[in-house]
Amino acid sequence: MAIFPSLFLSHGSPMTVIEDSRARRYLSGLGEEIGRPEAIIMVSAHWEYPVLAMTTADKLETIHDFGGFPQALFDCRYEPPGIGSLAGRVSGLAGQAGFDLYADPRRGIDHGGWTPLILMYPDADIPTAQISLETARGPAHQLAVGKALAALREEGVLVIGSGSMTHNLRTLVRDEPDSEGADWAVAFSEWVADALADGRVGDLLNWKDLAPNAEYAHPSDEHFLPLFTALGAGGESPKAERIHSSFTYGTQSMDCYAFG
Ligand code: ZN
Repeated sequence: MAIFPSLFLSHGSPMTVIEDSRARRYLSGLGEEIGRPEAIIMVSAHWEYPVLAMTTADKLETIHDFGGFPQALFDCRYEPPGIGSLAGRVSGLAGQAGFDLYADPRRGIDHGGWTPLILMYPDADIPTAQISLETARGPAHQLAVGKALAALREEGVLVIGSGSMTHNLRTLVRDEPDSEGADWAVAFSEWVADALADGRVGDLLNWKDLAPNAEYAHPSDEHFLPLFTALGAGGESPKAERIHSSFTYGTQSMDCYAFG
């Protein structure tokens, strides 16, 4: 059975789904490149929740959790099957790591989940579950959640953290879906790239103090934290590979990483 890397994907704006960009082109080929997993476990910036929870619906309904976008995005449907009996395995791994993982049979898939997946696996036929992001518990918690899930990679499961390498909506240049990056956003992205390449996990956990322009790159934490889920799911001392790097709207880094 294939062992998949864990992935951190920058999903950017929902417009990534319908508007041409380097990131869209990359994500559109990524599913074919890495192959078809048995299941997908996704932690998205857009399911912040006060406890650790997992979707357990038989079919995940599309959540259109955005406003002010073209009707074509509201018409998008991405409704993969749930993970069925694999949910027990995921709960067991979480329990071994000391986490209570609550089942949420009603929650569907948010746009942080379906924006990359509709490009990677457009048939929506791979069993998928989302796990919530407990933002307030910070990066060390997300790293631990990811580590708890690492064994799934050897069972044909693709673990994805979906966020954005930089995410400051007030600074976006809306008419430039393919752009160069602003200096401050490049500096932040490159700091992360260097820290990941060097395996400086301690520095990454202290990103708010150490990374240049951290508060500007992430006025709130939720789009950065899924990086730690993916990093943790890569296993002990994973090799980090930057698999994509581009900018959209002037300041949004679309960097993507594979760990394993
Ligand atoms: Zn987002």
